[in-house]
Amino acid sequence: MKLGIVGLPNVGKSTLFNSLTKAGAESANYPFCTIDPNVGIVAVPDERLKLLGDMYHSKKVTPAVIEFVDIAGLVKGASKGEGLGNQFLANIREVDAIVHVVRCFEDTNIVHVDGSIDPARDIETINLELIFSDIEILERRIAKVAKQARMDKTLAKELELLEALKKHLEDGMMARTFEVPEDEDMEEWFNSYNLLTAKPTIYAANVSEDDLADDGANNPYVQAVREKAKEENSEVFVICAQIEQEIAELDDDEKAMFLEDLGLKESGLEKLIKASYSLLGLISYLTAGEDETRAWTIKKGTKAPQAAGKIHSDFERGFIRAEVVNYQDLLDCGSLSAAKEKGIVGLEGKEYVVKDGDVILFRFNV
Ligand code: GDP
Repeated sequence: MKLGIVGLPNVGKSTLFNSLTKAGAESANYPFCTIDPNVGIVAVPDERLKLLGDMYHSKKVTPAVIEFVDIAGLVKGASKGEGLGNQFLANIREVDAIVHVVRCFEDTNIVHVDGSIDPARDIETINLELIFSDIEILERRIAKVAKQARMDKTLAKELELLEALKKHLEDGMMARTFEVPEDEDMEEWFNSYNLLTAKPTIYAANVSEDDLADDGANNPYVQAVREKAKEENSEVFVICAQIEQEIAELDDDEKAMFLEDLGLKESGLEKLIKASYSLLGLISYLTAGEDETRAWTIKKGTKAPQAAGKIHSDFERGFIRAEVVNYQDLLDCGSLSAAKEKGIVGLEGKEYVVKDGDVILFRFNV
């Protein structure tokens, strides 16, 4: 699962990315600094893992991960090829969801590409580029389908969808607010276009340190982001990229103290990572043992054999059954054998839909 970090130059994307990955991507005070998309692997924070690992005296505890891509260089005119625009747009097309960073902090030392701080305008600038790029995709598809439709009358329905979608985008709206008619073909076509503006999006309002404690409630820039996001049912997260970068350098104890001083329970990044995970419809199931306790990422609704396949394809092919116990119930019992004695370990078959926080032992034939 990949998330792309987008936004205008100098809004704090690289700073956020660095704190997410501590990978050391470049961060500097001028546009076009980061040209190559940087990919970082980020652990999904999960309190359950440590507790479970302690119970099993596991040698290793392995969290679930998601990938973040720092997509720099998206500027006005990107869809027309400005500033390597098309390349960046192609990078966005590969991600599953978008984190759109918006500058809500004042700092006269940091140049804004458009000369002033104006989140609504900034969001529109980026979204327009995404919309233009999507319209281009639709136009190409329309040209192709129109030709085929002369031979194949069933394609008239797709043309209708394409035209309606194009109109929606031309009205300045994102594809994710388009109501796809309840029709299997239409839904499949819609997904196949892989439109940028159809991707689930989180807005990250990048504020200064002072605005963290009240979640940006008194910052009019943040309010502007909230209003824009509301129009398209997207979520907003208030972060301070600069502070996150400092926090990322600390060890766990220092971090806890630092957050307490700021009046926060968890870092903005932790909140953002968790929110991204659920935005993508992802959940974790857990495996536990002396060697390793580990979280595995699956889509909500995944059945037991396919969940087992995340560990190894043999597990899916030879699946017999799964022994399943809820993580909290297992902890309360103190051990798997105690949980079994209590009769709370389920024996589940091929149709079992795995739940978040299930601790699972798979039985399979080799
Ligand atoms: P990008 O071009 O969007 O990747 O932006 P960068 O992450 O390179 O940040 C541009 C400049 O803004 C850098 O000098 C950062 O240190 C600074 N910056 C980033 N986040 C914040 C913040 O929350 N507050 C302040 N004051 N400066 C920030």
